[in-house]
Amino acid sequence: MTSSRHEPLVALMSETGNRSKGILEGAVHRTASLPWRRSQWKERGMVRDRPRCSYCGMVVPEGQEGVTRHEEIHFFCGRECQLRFDLQGPTARLRGEVVRRRAVIIDYMEEARGSSVITLVHRRESWDEEEKEGYITMEDSEAIVAAIRGAGSDTPVDLILHTPGGLALAAELIAMALKHHEAHTTVIVPFYAMSGGSLIAIAADEVLMGRESILGPLDPQIRGFSAGTLLRLLQRKPVEMISDEHLLLAENAQRSMDQTKEFVKWLLEDKLSKQKREALAVFLTGGYISHETPIVPEVLRGYGLPVKVGLPEGVEALFDTFVFGACERP
Ligand SMILES: [Zn+2]
Repeated sequence: MTSSRHEPLVALMSETGNRSKGILEGAVHRTASLPWRRSQWKERGMVRDRPRCSYCGMVVPEGQEGVTRHEEIHFFCGRECQLRFDLQGPTARLRGEVVRRRAVIIDYMEEARGSSVITLVHRRESWDEEEKEGYITMEDSEAIVAAIRGAGSDTPVDLILHTPGGLALAAELIAMALKHHEAHTTVIVPFYAMSGGSLIAIAADEVLMGRESILGPLDPQIRGFSAGTLLRLLQRKPVEMISDEHLLLAENAQRSMDQTKEFVKWLLEDKLSKQKREALAVFLTGGYISHETPIVPEVLRGYGLPVKVGLPEGVEALFDTFVFGACERP
């Protein structure tokens, strides 16, 4: 299989050992891009003009004194942020600038939409020293699940999602948290949410996408092969001609595919009729289309998913803060 950027995979739940280890070793991973929780703002009595933490961008508690660093006054929400800021030097200053800008936008969106805005964005940050490509990790799932819980049961959740995919188990945990959330849930896909990202998207009550935004198939990937492909190879040769290893892989492929398909159907239970659930689950998990196939909003709507084209105000500005280098390109 080619090493497309979307290959970081819906890997496996049934065989965490080898497979997730392989992925973790092979890729640089990065935590979720700073999820914020509305409750944190509430606790602090959000005031637009109150100073924000120079490390994490949160509004600092009332009465917090500024400290002088690099001939500027800086505020910190707590000692930990201050220590990290001092430890990381210039990187922390750059990070702080960007994060504060980002926090103001998220804050605006939360006010405008009356929601808790959470972000899961895998993109290089301007303070990253080397090229990195993130994917959904267990660490991400902890952060995002905590943020969804933290929103409180009566607050709608908006999850802004931008990812090539990642570990299946991590994506499933986030999808479950969205499905279980009592208030309305929206997944916002400004550009793409492939593989595990798509699994998360279909768990929401509503998906908002750009006109060119895409989701992708959910066929489990096993050692770089789609589960469906592995299974079909099995049908093309007599069993004595097939190696033990392939037979074992095929068995895993079958299990993973069945499991993902059932999970998808469960996610769609309260949204689509039985027939439509089945059809969409087969389409997404069966491996009939390549794992990199872009699935556009019209196709998703055709299957009955609650997908709308149009991104809420603030999303574009938010993504500007992810652009490497603050200046406009010539
Ligand atoms: Zn802070």
